[in-house]
Amino acid sequence: MPVGRLTTKSKFHIDVAYWEKQGRNFRQEVYDALCQECKSMYSLEDVREVDYVDPVTGQVTRIDALLDCASAVCSNAPDFINPKMPLTRSIFRAFIAAGNLPQSAEEIYAHINKGSPQIILKELLSVQMESEGVTSV
Ligand SMILES: [Zn+2]
Repeated sequence: MPVGRLTTKSKFHIDVAYWEKQGRNFRQEVYDALCQECKSMYSLEDVREVDYVDPVTGQVTRIDALLDCASAVCSNAPDFINPKMPLTRSIFRAFIAAGNLPQSAEEIYAHINKGSPQIILKELLSVQMESEGVTSV
């Protein structure tokens, strides 16, 4: 964690390298988030990368095709993030929906419409999110 006071404007993302160090498969998590239709189009072993264009900045990054599908297609389904999900799961889905580009608590709040930016920031800094590899960037 960087030194300094983190605010609702501080950016966070899921640290995929952390997952790998823990012997966990981030792609599995993304795959589980896919809708049924897309699940049938991809396999976990099929690792491909595609260009991802940030809708706001226009910046292009290379991302996993699975993550691209989850963010560009499946995240549009109304139940991708639903009110019954725990807050941690909703935040996690918000990262997947954004192609895991860094997001602030305010941006996540605008997306999931749950709690408040302050509550989300508290959650992002919680031990639970830390164990999910969510870190500030
Ligand atoms: Zn889908």
